[in-house]
Amino acid sequence: MFNTKLPRHTTRKVWVGNIAIGGDAPVVVQSMTNTDTADIAGTTEQTYALWRAGSEMVRITVNTLEAAQAVPHIRDALAKMGCDVPLIGDFHFNGHKLLTSVPECAEALAKYRINPGNVGKGSKRDEQYAAMIETACRYNKPVRIGVNWGSLDQAHLARMMDENAQRAQPFEPEWVMREALITSALESAQKAEEIGLPRDKIILSCKLSGVQDLISTYRELASRSDYPLHLGLTEAGMGSKGIVASTAALSVLLQEGIGDTIRISLTPAPGGDRSQEVIVAQEILQTMGLRSFTPMVVACPGCGRTTSTVFQHLAQDIQRYLRDQMPTWRNQYPGVEAMHVAVMGCVVNGPGESKHANIGISLPGTGEVPVAPVYVDGQKTVTLKGEHIAEEFQAIVEDYVHS
Ligand code: SF4
Repeated sequence: MFNTKLPRHTTRKVWVGNIAIGGDAPVVVQSMTNTDTADIAGTTEQTYALWRAGSEMVRITVNTLEAAQAVPHIRDALAKMGCDVPLIGDFHFNGHKLLTSVPECAEALAKYRINPGNVGKGSKRDEQYAAMIETACRYNKPVRIGVNWGSLDQAHLARMMDENAQRAQPFEPEWVMREALITSALESAQKAEEIGLPRDKIILSCKLSGVQDLISTYRELASRSDYPLHLGLTEAGMGSKGIVASTAALSVLLQEGIGDTIRISLTPAPGGDRSQEVIVAQEILQTMGLRSFTPMVVACPGCGRTTSTVFQHLAQDIQRYLRDQMPTWRNQYPGVEAMHVAVMGCVVNGPGESKHANIGISLPGTGEVPVAPVYVDGQKTVTLKGEHIAEEFQAIVEDYVHS
C-alpha cells in the first residue's frame, strides 16, 4: 500500500534447471521430501504434491545405491505427469561414491547439495569432495555447499579454536563458532572453484537452529561473498513454534535483502501434510510483499460484534478454494495471484477493508441488519442475504477471476 521497496543483496545468478537463483531473480521457494527415495512411487507422489503446492525446487535424499538408481525414474515419472520441477540431490558421507557410480543419477539431478562436514575425514575428505565437484563439472550442474551447525566439520572448528587460543586477545568462543561456519562454506566454495566449478554454479547456506545465530551468521556471510544464499532455520520444530521461529529469522534477513531461496523446515505431525512448509514459505514472501503466489484473504479476527462463525468459515473456505485453484489458474489467469479478498465480521472495518480489496464482503454483526454488502473493485455491487451468503460470495469470486 505504501510502495516500500526493499534492498537486495547483490548475488550472482545461478540456474538450477529452469529456475534462476540470485541476481535479479525472485526469491525461490523450495522444499524437501521425507520419503525413502528408493521408493519411486512414494517419492514421485510427494514431490508432485510439493510442486503442486508451489515448491519451485524439491530436494530428495540420495543416501543409498537404490536411492541413486531411483532418481532418474522419479524424474521421468514426474515428467510424464507434466511436472518439470528441478530435483536436488542431498548427499552426505557417500555422495562421492553414488555420484560417480550412478551416472544416470548425476545427470538426472538439477543440483547437488554437498555438506562439507559430511564428506569424509583427513586426506579422504579432499579426495571425496573433489570427486563430487568434478562430477558437477562433468554434468554441468550447480552445487549448494550447505554447512549445518549440527554437522560442522569438527577438524575445521578445532583448528579455528586453536588459532584463536594463540591470539593475544582471543575472540569469544561464539565468534569462533560462527566464523567456523562461514569459513567452512567460503573455503569449500573456493576449493570448488579451484577444482574447476564455475563461480555461477555455486550456492551457499549456513544453517543453524537459533534465530539470532542464524541472522548474525547470514549477515556476515552476505557481507563477504556474492554467492546466492539459501536461507533456512534448520530443525525449526513443530507447529506454531517452527513457523514462528522460521518467520522471525527469515523475515529479518529478507527485509535486509539477504536470501535468494528459502526453505521452511517444519516437523510435520505424524501423517501430516508436508506441503505446509511450502505454504508457510510462500506466505512469508507474500506478506512481506516480495512475491505473490495465491490471492490473499484479509479477514478480521472477529469479536463480540460477530453473531456467528459464518465469516470465519467463509474466510477459510475462500482461502482453501483459491489455493486449490492456483495450479490451474496460474497459467490461465496471469496476475490472479496478486488479488486480494476481504472477508470481514461486521461493518465497523468491513466496508473500508472491502473497498481496498478486489472483492470484499462484510458479514452482519450483532444488532446489524442481517445483510452482507459486497464490494468489487471498490464499488458496492450487491447485498447478499439469507442462508446461502457463503455460496453466493464464492460464486462472485469465481466470476471475478474468470471475467
Ligand atoms: Fe469485530 Fe467488526 Fe472489527 Fe471484525 S470488523 S473485529 S467483527 S469490529
